[in-house]
Amino acid sequence: MIDYKLLAAKGVQKLSPYIPGKPISELEREMGISNIIKLASNENPLGSSPLAIKAMQDVIGEIELYPDGNGFALKKALAAKHNVDMDCITLGNGSNDVLVLLAEAFLTPELNGVYSQYSFAVYPIAIQAVGAVHKQIPALSWETDSPLGHDLDAMLKAIDDKTRIVFIANPNNPTGNHLSEKELKGFIAQVPEDVIVVVDEAYLEYSNADEQVDASKWLNEFPNLVVTRTFSKAYGLAGLRVGYALSNSDIANVINRIRQPFNVNSLALIAAEHAIADKEFLAKSLQENAQGLKILAQTCNNLNLRFVPSKGNFLLIDFQQDAAPIYMELLKRGIITRPVANYGLTDALRITIGTQEQMQRLDKAMEQVCG
Ligand SMILES: *Cc1c(COP(=O)(O)O)cnc(C)c1O
Repeated sequence: MIDYKLLAAKGVQKLSPYIPGKPISELEREMGISNIIKLASNENPLGSSPLAIKAMQDVIGEIELYPDGNGFALKKALAAKHNVDMDCITLGNGSNDVLVLLAEAFLTPELNGVYSQYSFAVYPIAIQAVGAVHKQIPALSWETDSPLGHDLDAMLKAIDDKTRIVFIANPNNPTGNHLSEKELKGFIAQVPEDVIVVVDEAYLEYSNADEQVDASKWLNEFPNLVVTRTFSKAYGLAGLRVGYALSNSDIANVINRIRQPFNVNSLALIAAEHAIADKEFLAKSLQENAQGLKILAQTCNNLNLRFVPSKGNFLLIDFQQDAAPIYMELLKRGIITRPVANYGLTDALRITIGTQEQMQRLDKAMEQVCG
């Protein structure tokens, strides 16, 4: 048989596919255990907004119809929330979709995209999938104020006349660290206007209101700025796949040209619209996360494990030894965490913050495994 991989586009041949967290059903199948908790994909341990669920139930009888391809009701709600015009919004099948669309729309094999080491694994995939050059810039070291964080000076230096996109996750995944308003705004101000700066704010909601670095406030100031948001994390709708980009209307127009006409499904549209309105569920989610984060940080301190201070719903923990056996031991105890060896972080695991009860169970398991 011929090697079909060799028939694929060059960029596709070279890319390393995304490795998702292990699903609960898979661990059940493999080890025959039950009562499993998944702390691997930064999902919301409290579930989803009851208002969103109710709204979906109300339209479930209409799914023979195509969704509203323009997502009018959701865009209207988002426009009000962010104080932008509706034509500045691009909806995506998850924000992942929007990230890929941006790469497809703006990159070619002659151009490059810049992103940081230890940042979201989707950036190099999106860049390489269109045959463009991916420029991964080494992150800051553990021994800095921003362990494993973006080295913005180095990223600025890496931008050349072939750079068309820069991806920044703030807060960052898988590390959890964040850039201050001053750092991020100072960076964007120095990027040439023909380079699109994508600020991925998938975890923004988890910062306290007074600490949130919301780049969408600067959209009028920087025409090359694109901010992405998701309903997958704090809003608890990961399974529906819905996210969006905010940008100037020219950029939104470009992305919308290649967007599949019905990329966001009917249930996702209505659920997201109602999730925005459910302030109570969001507040509860943030509060539970803050509590859980405290418990896990304490667990790490008790076990003398260092971690990256996190503004997200997860913690990157350094075990200072190969983390693969630790991952396995936690699996045996019914706890799924996330290996990050694919990022080159062989000694670390990324652990999602669960409910306080789940964090207590994790505490016991980690004590047994690492104590
Ligand atoms: C989870 C995550 C996303 C969101 O992905 P969706 O496709 O919206 O589910 C985007 N960026 C980062 C950095 C993430 O961690």
